[in-house]
Amino acid sequence: QHGKNRFHLFDNEQNIAIVLKHEKLKQIRHALDQSKFRLFYQPKVNMQTGNIIGVEALIRWQSSERGIIGPNEFLPLIENNELIIEIGEWVIKTALQQIKVWKTMGLNIPVSVNISALQLQSNDFPARLSALLSQFPEVPPTDLELEVLETSALGDLLKISETMQNCIKLGVNFALDDFGTGYSSLSYLRRLPASVIKIDQTFVRDMLIDPEDLAIIESVVLLAKSFKRDVIAEGVETIDHGIALLELGCVFAQGYAIAKPMPAEEIPHWIESWQPEVSWQQYSNKN
Ligand code: C2E
Ligand code: MG
Ligand code: MG
Ligand code: MG
Repeated sequence: QHGKNRFHLFDNEQNIAIVLKHEKLKQIRHALDQSKFRLFYQPKVNMQTGNIIGVEALIRWQSSERGIIGPNEFLPLIENNELIIEIGEWVIKTALQQIKVWKTMGLNIPVSVNISALQLQSNDFPARLSALLSQFPEVPPTDLELEVLETSALGDLLKISETMQNCIKLGVNFALDDFGTGYSSLSYLRRLPASVIKIDQTFVRDMLIDPEDLAIIESVVLLAKSFKRDVIAEGVETIDHGIALLELGCVFAQGYAIAKPMPAEEIPHWIESWQPEVSWQQYSNKN
């Protein structure tokens, strides 16, 4: 790291960090082999009609020692490691399996899964996706959405958009996750064939107190409309956030005000019982 022609003795601290990282990787590998990962699902809804438009699958590590561990604690450690590709495949397969189970219960619930940059950039991604889809002939590929970060396309925009096109040919569609936090240049938006834009939750969080965040959301909604993409707000934590988003013309939402991520088994009951806020529904006449 300090350049060529140099020796550098590891000091003890660095040594410990390396050992710890190695140990963590071993634990993650073990967790995968021992089926310690599971998916939680968070509903995405149309705030006006109350229709559920799908769910996002979010990975959790169920550790016998530490309980449920969130993805931010372990995915960053492996974002440049082959392991993330293996886990990514497990996620797609598990989501497809879940769509199939819901179908046998008479429920059609599209699922979106998060795809890591390394996974999307791997050469055989469309082929592997196709193989997974063919394991589930009961599941139409249109029920699967792939969430990618704009930054996944860093370096080779052309190649990534080609990969995305090849996946779209299989029937799946794409969403641009955390939109606004990466590069968000207009040419990225134009050249990445994602049909959905997800407004990052940091903008949503402060939209009621920070006029600049509100302005960003307003622009993204307009941009999405002109580019003919759907737009969904993430991190909708209160009813007031929902109202403000509806006023801006953003009807799709995901967040704690609607539901927290939950085990698959809870989704059917949640769907049955959920109703949009009366104050949200009033907007259905205006738009
Ligand atoms: P993301 O894809 O942007 O997912 C949304 C995150 O926001 C989730 O955190 C979700 O639990 C959280 N969230 C939802 N509604 C609210 C809200 O109203 N308020 C707040 N404060 N947070 C809310 P989670 O599950 O911890 O996931 C964090 C990130 O980890 C995800 O962000 C995604 O980038 C990544 N991730 C999760 N599952 C997977 C996976 O299976 N594969 C890959 N590659 N990445 C994943
Ligand atoms: Mg996501
Ligand atoms: Mg996001
Ligand atoms: Mg995120």
